[in-house]
Amino acid sequence: MESIKYYSTNLHANEVTFSEALLKGIAPDKGLYMPKEIPAFSKEEIKSFSQKEYYEIAFEVIRKFLVGQIDDKELFALVKDAYNFPVPLEKGFENKYVMRLDQGPTASFKDFAARMMGRLMNYYLKKENRKLLILTATSGDTGSAIANAFYGLDNIQVAVLFPDGEVTDRQRKQMTTLGENIKIISLKGKFDDCQALVKESFADSDLDYLNLSSANSINIGRLVPQIVYYFYSFSRLRKGEENDDVVFSVPSGNFGDMMGGIFAKHMGLPIKKFIISVNENDEFPTFLKTGKYNKIEPSKNCLSSAMNVGHPSNLARLVALYDGVMDEKGGISQIPDMVKMRDDIYSISVSDKETKEMIKEAHNKHNLLLEPHGSVGWKGLTEYCKKFNVDKDQLCISLETAHPAKFPEEIIEILKFEPELPPSLEGLENKEEYCDNLENKYSDFKAYLINNYK
Ligand SMILES: *Cc1c(COP(=O)(O)O)cnc(C)c1O
Repeated sequence: MESIKYYSTNLHANEVTFSEALLKGIAPDKGLYMPKEIPAFSKEEIKSFSQKEYYEIAFEVIRKFLVGQIDDKELFALVKDAYNFPVPLEKGFENKYVMRLDQGPTASFKDFAARMMGRLMNYYLKKENRKLLILTATSGDTGSAIANAFYGLDNIQVAVLFPDGEVTDRQRKQMTTLGENIKIISLKGKFDDCQALVKESFADSDLDYLNLSSANSINIGRLVPQIVYYFYSFSRLRKGEENDDVVFSVPSGNFGDMMGGIFAKHMGLPIKKFIISVNENDEFPTFLKTGKYNKIEPSKNCLSSAMNVGHPSNLARLVALYDGVMDEKGGISQIPDMVKMRDDIYSISVSDKETKEMIKEAHNKHNLLLEPHGSVGWKGLTEYCKKFNVDKDQLCISLETAHPAKFPEEIIEILKFEPELPPSLEGLENKEEYCDNLENKYSDFKAYLINNYK
């Protein structure tokens, strides 16, 4: 079979293969890579997933996008290595469930994408006999997800910069206790200073030999693995009848997670409705209603902090999927098919007050322990069910994207107890830390890179 080509949503770059899109990240015209065609599963194939483990479903889904790009045996080994943790499905009430994507090494759903992207990058780099240095600045969470996902991969080095004293002890230890190919740098400065140094390094031709990459969230290699858990959860919870279908609710910020779900729908998963639940940054629900898009600048600070996004970086992909064109700044030169989009998608904005109330209600009424992001998703789902009088037998699944133990202050305030740590976050106190300290000076940082990576 011929391999799928990937085009840029800005339509001014050459089409590339999956591995090129993966290693490039962003297209030369600043657009996002999208598959030219979306592969589909037959009903029989989707039925057969009920008998498969998570990593086996991951193999089937990812393989569709990589035809002719990787050997089955190699891909199978990668997915088996990446997905070695459980994906629990908890019942709330009636036929309404929460899918917990919080059991990976950093207790965030971002582990699903980052672990697979790391392994795929490593595979192609090895084949081409190339090495890569991932350089990233973090205010806490992204750095640990990237460091953990790339830990131990032999053709990739990782250097993470964080602002001295501005990440929590636990966040720091999640990065500094790894070692091997992971270097962590504490900078005497702010997060913005860390970002500025990273930016300057990317623009410095003296460092071209290092083959720098940012592994950022718009990489197609992060999107494809996020299709898998939609198929997985449906395969576990479906009744097994011909006309089974499902409603998903996804707490959303940059829309990477929800794009995975929309892809799943376009691949044949019978998703009756897709609910995009956002916090008070409501640019998308307004767009869906009115067809007019206005970014929110600056974005609003809400409890679900990973979703404080006033212009979702993956929105251009959604627009492209519905035959529109949106550039990287949010300008629309071709309006997407809004009627079709509204048919597939419902979107709702949830306030901080409602987020807190729902954490309480979910715990007291349905015995579900949710953190602020998951609470936004669950609120979106329950509101949708009320508004449209959804049948009590309708299968509905809301995504929980982080572990409640990552938000102890909020949980203690609302529920009056401290959530237990998941195994992945336990025992960090006793591990040795590896960390370098640098002054906030580009010349020092450059010398550091040159000395460490020859
Ligand atoms: C990143 C993140 C989100 C938002 O995911 P997007 O793909 O950016 O929409 C939601 N919840 C948590 C906990 C996250 O870290």
